[in-house]
Amino acid sequence: MEKLEQLYEGKAKKVFATENPDLVIVSYKDDATAFDGQKKGIISGKGAINNRMTNFLMQKLEKQGVPTHFVEELNDRETVVRKVSIVPLEVIVRNLSAGHFASRYGVEEGIVFEEPVVEFSYKNDDLHDPLLNDDHAVALKLATREEIAVIKQMALKVNELLKGILLECGVTLVDFKLEFGKTSDGKLVLADEISPDTCRFWDAKTGEKLDKDRFRRDLGNVEEAYIEMRRRLLGE
Ligand code: 5GP
Repeated sequence: MEKLEQLYEGKAKKVFATENPDLVIVSYKDDATAFDGQKKGIISGKGAINNRMTNFLMQKLEKQGVPTHFVEELNDRETVVRKVSIVPLEVIVRNLSAGHFASRYGVEEGIVFEEPVVEFSYKNDDLHDPLLNDDHAVALKLATREEIAVIKQMALKVNELLKGILLECGVTLVDFKLEFGKTSDGKLVLADEISPDTCRFWDAKTGEKLDKDRFRRDLGNVEEAYIEMRRRLLGE
């Protein structure tokens, strides 16, 4: 499939048109940002790892009945996906306290929740992705009530499936962020990526962080964490 003009460049990916109006090509970059883009860097080899890992997990989810935008991996950094309009909600699922949950509510990291916590943020860089609830999202016309219910149900199903896949690799799924998109025929599908950039992965035995928190918090061994996650999940 031929890559045509660039449609969009985000912090971690570029999107290109193809000759098919319903398909685009996503190209993963090594660029890393944190704290609303204030911290910038390069995580060498990250783009290829995130591409492979996202595609591996999206294919597993599809097989279990979760519709995704995945179509075909082209090479180590590029993938054909269905063109969607992104629902401007960051859908966060948490199994343990960490990150903003811990700082916002003044609790330590690592508290295991009895039930997963689903949380929405308004995907808007200028406003710093503010937290919002279902009523806010409906009032702002970001999604309908029915779409929010479907998104929440899909996010919880993704959590159950991912938790199982990761536990088999000795990894605790602490939390993650999903994005959903609508295809030209109005179908809601899982979009964006599932990677150490968008999830918190802790070694199940030692609690060692194997995700982008190593970059965000200057913990060192950043590339090594991504490589370790690729090894555990993909055996590569
Ligand atoms: P927190 O709200 O604690 O910062 O993040 C919760 C989870 O969602 C983490 O796994 C984090 O990686 C992911 N997440 C939240 N917001 C973003 C974002 O804007 N970009 C990325 N890549 N991940 C995010």
